[in-house]
Amino acid sequence: MVKVRFAPSPTGYLHVGNTRTALANYLFARKENGILVLRIEDTDMERSDTAYEASILEDLRWLGISWEEGPFRQSERIQTYRTYIDVLLEKGDAYKCFCSKERLEEIKALSVRRGEPPRYDGTCRNLSGEAVHRMESEGKPYVVRFRSPRRAVRFTDLIHGETFFPDDHVDDFILLKQELTPSYNFAVTVDDMLMEITHVIRGSDHLSNTPKQILLFQALDRTPPQYAHHSLLTGPDRRPLSKRHGATQVREFRDIGILPAVLANYVAIIGRKVKKEIMERDEMINTFTVKSLSSSDSLFDMGKLFWFNKEYIRNMPVENLLGASDIPPKYRDEVVILQENSKTLAELKEYLDIFDGTDIKDDGIAYLSAFGDLTAVVAAMDGLPLDGGLTFDDIVKEMEHGTGLTKRDLFMVLRIILTGRKSGPPLKEVFPLLKKDTVTKRMLCLKRQFSLS
Ligand code: GLU
Repeated sequence: MVKVRFAPSPTGYLHVGNTRTALANYLFARKENGILVLRIEDTDMERSDTAYEASILEDLRWLGISWEEGPFRQSERIQTYRTYIDVLLEKGDAYKCFCSKERLEEIKALSVRRGEPPRYDGTCRNLSGEAVHRMESEGKPYVVRFRSPRRAVRFTDLIHGETFFPDDHVDDFILLKQELTPSYNFAVTVDDMLMEITHVIRGSDHLSNTPKQILLFQALDRTPPQYAHHSLLTGPDRRPLSKRHGATQVREFRDIGILPAVLANYVAIIGRKVKKEIMERDEMINTFTVKSLSSSDSLFDMGKLFWFNKEYIRNMPVENLLGASDIPPKYRDEVVILQENSKTLAELKEYLDIFDGTDIKDDGIAYLSAFGDLTAVVAAMDGLPLDGGLTFDDIVKEMEHGTGLTKRDLFMVLRIILTGRKSGPPLKEVFPLLKKDTVTKRMLCLKRQFSLS
């Protein structure tokens, strides 16, 4: 039975990069009729926050990502990790290290000066039992380190293929920190082992941790799971996706009116070769393969996300759209027109003011100011019986006659006066839904603005 996990650290809000990992695990679990475990990796007490945890859970639910087991919190499993520390100490695969923080800083500085990756120099690796006992009884603080077997690690990553790390890659890294909480690599390994995880699907930023985790599995006499490291997301400049590229957190996308199904759909196909891009959830599940996730950096294309959203909005039953955007049902007909061309739910809501707003937007005013004398336009408008009977074509005909304007100019002027905006859905569709009162108020606004009577 396939068992996978999504293991966020609650040190921030859910990011689209992590959403990709969550989706990959979710789709894989669903496709294989397996189990998805949600594990909260909150051993970094300083940076973890329960508010972030709550928000991550909320975002996952919003995206329709469900899990079968958990959430389990690593902070509630500290005793379990200590048990396995004892197992490794007993077997001689771990040792206590009493080196002071200052000494470790010196070693680190030295490695940096030599241009080498910082590694522990093994001072405490071969301390006698007696020395350990003495320092412990003196109350000297210690950490527990892995006694690295210093052997090369080879494994077949389901996305990257054959992967190799040389024998000096894994040093005697820390398993248990001074405050007796586990390090990331140790907690993950113990959890993946005890939770019987069969596949670890995560971002390639964790690739270099994998040999550490594999060696730990071997030290604990267990077979490691299969690993799959998908690529990371980038912005258009090919640099890791970050705030400077715009929205990156799920809640930000929700706030600007991206539909949850769209975000999930788009993120699930990024970097994958798929026959069809817009998919129902079932299709997403049925067509998912771990191999199809890309190993090279993948572009997060905001324009494409908006295109997806627009397509979804356009094809959504209007009742669902009213619900998703919290628009009262009395605007049903107006929404039917607006949904043809709205990129986001926020935009849809914003453009509703065409039908019940009474002002003219600044860019509309600016256009009209540059247009020239509006006296003839206002006079022609005032002469129109707006309380029914006239079709939009009648209005255009009357106004053409009354103002002498070309059709092109007339359409823009009419659009601004009738809707308050320079852009929007086809005027012909909008017109039958405009209330006389709205038009009269906009006319008043226009007259006030241009001191016309
Ligand atoms: N907690 C880690 C993170 O948020 C994930 C660890 C893992 O998947 O092994 O990056």
